[in-house]
Amino acid sequence: MIYTCKKCLFMFDRVGLVERCPDCGSENFRPSTKEEKEEFENYQREFNKKKADKLA
Ligand SMILES: [Zn+2]
Repeated sequence: MIYTCKKCLFMFDRVGLVERCPDCGSENFRPSTKEEKEEFENYQREFNKKKADKLA
């Protein structure tokens, strides 16, 4: 499940119960929308690609 923090707009992927945003510690977050999920996945892909480039 991917969540979006309403306070800082940080997105995070968590399995199970989530109590706080890992970035700002706010309890004010909601499940991400489909569009947000796609954006998040794109971001993750880019991030992993960059990491792989660095290691190569
Ligand atoms: Zn936050």
